[in-house]
Amino acid sequence: MLALRPNCEYCDRDLPPDSPDARICSYECTFCADCVETVLFDVCPNCGGGFVPRPIRPSTERRPGVSLARQPASDERVRLKYGRSEVAAFVRAVRDIPPQAGSASRRAPAISPTGRDESSRAARAAAE
Ligand SMILES: [Zn+2]
Ligand SMILES: [Zn+2]
Repeated sequence: MLALRPNCEYCDRDLPPDSPDARICSYECTFCADCVETVLFDVCPNCGGGFVPRPIRPSTERRPGVSLARQPASDERVRLKYGRSEVAAFVRAVRDIPPQAGSASRRAPAISPTGRDESSRAARAAAE
């Protein structure tokens, strides 16, 4: 079950459980959409994986025993253990490698034939 962590690990802004701006990686490292888009470029600084929007846990108990009140969000704030310049260097090294790429496929990303901004790693992976 997701802990629904209360803040962005990078900028420390609040991410309440009903926030549409929370992003999580497969390890549930939690960041805000702003940091993911403008600082992290879809690279989790803890694990190198990508992000998805965090699902909203229903506040209404539509099934017995299942709701935000029954399984409340975590109130344990988490802060990134890496400094900003270390994160920037890590992101630079990883951002052009799709998360699903093995260590042998460190090649330049494909240029989108559509000419659209394919800045998201997922979009690039889908285009390949
Ligand atoms: Zn943030
Ligand atoms: Zn992570």
